Amino acid sequence: MQGLTAPPAWATKAKRTLDAVRAAVAAGTEREFNSHWTEDAVRDLLLELVGVKCWYCESLIVRTDITVDHYRPKSEVLDVHGHPGYWWLAYEVSNYRIACKHCNSGGARYNGVREGRAKGSQFPLIGGTRARTSLDDLNREQPLLLDPAHHSDPDLLGFDSGGYARRSNTPYSQAETKHGLCRADETIRILALNDSHLVPLRARLMEEVGVLARHGDLTDIQQLVDDKVGPEAPYSAAAAMALALHRACNRPAAAPTTAATTPTPAVDPARSRVDLQDLLEHLDPDALKTGITLTGQHEKKVHRAVLNHEGHINVLGRPWRTPTTAARAATGSNKIDGWDFWHLTITGVEQTLAEFRATHFPPPS
Ligand SMILES: [Zn+2]
Repeated sequence: MQGLTAPPAWATKAKRTLDAVRAAVAAGTEREFNSHWTEDAVRDLLLELVGVKCWYCESLIVRTDITVDHYRPKSEVLDVHGHPGYWWLAYEVSNYRIACKHCNSGGARYNGVREGRAKGSQFPLIGGTRARTSLDDLNREQPLLLDPAHHSDPDLLGFDSGGYARRSNTPYSQAETKHGLCRADETIRILALNDSHLVPLRARLMEEVGVLARHGDLTDIQQLVDDKVGPEAPYSAAAAMALALHRACNRPAAAPTTAATTPTPAVDPARSRVDLQDLLEHLDPDALKTGITLTGQHEKKVHRAVLNHEGHINVLGRPWRTPTTAARAATGSNKIDGWDFWHLTITGVEQTLAEFRATHFPPPS
């Protein structure tokens, strides 16, 4: 993205508009953003990178508008009072992401469930210092939403064989642990990456890739697999994961070494700031098998969820790994801490997840 150069004629026109926006900001008058980002001169440049697909959800964008999202929103930042938006980046090609209509502006409902607000003007941070003017350093911001154009963010997103997007096996960052948030889960929630249309498409694709890979010694079939995992293919990240899984399962077993020992699963108290994996052993396995009911109240409404043996919290038919994202998905609020929100009852004692956690992993002093 950093290497993209806008065509000179477009850049000249965009600079004129940006100068006018800057003058309006200085004068305190209304800013007028001419939507030059929708022009073919710059949009085609972006489409050449990975074809006509949404950079966030990887859906092909056919027979509908191809929108260009501003990763840092140009005119306001949702939930950040008084922020003028990253207006100075309105015509920076490096701030553009090809997006489907839903990822850009939301609005979709499936099976009666509203699927996230989508990105729109959301740009939450998980740490760092928020830039408010063109003089501020963007590198001091730690965005919460995964950036499809970032060199390592896409690696935080993985997929299970059921087609659900989830966190890859990457340790949580310091900022994630500090705030009890998983960047992948929050991105999945905000962009509705596990909506009931996408999940079956991914599951089907992953199954196809697995079947094809088993016969991959034929050139024609190898080509089909290559096409499905190629960057321009829909859901190619999930396809690539299916291929990697296939290869891992079919790799010849390494010869045992004399010093081989069975590794003990590491319990990481830091992880229990974010998800429930290391707390599962402290819950009744039989109860987990049938599902442990969690309840939480927000604005006088009681919300229910079910915690299962994998440590997933099921809310409205979707599995979440992190209590906070599950609570936000249930309530629609971006500000809830799920550890304080969710209650469970253990041997007749009702407690919050935070209280339950503190019994087993006392907070660092
Ligand atoms: Zn999308």
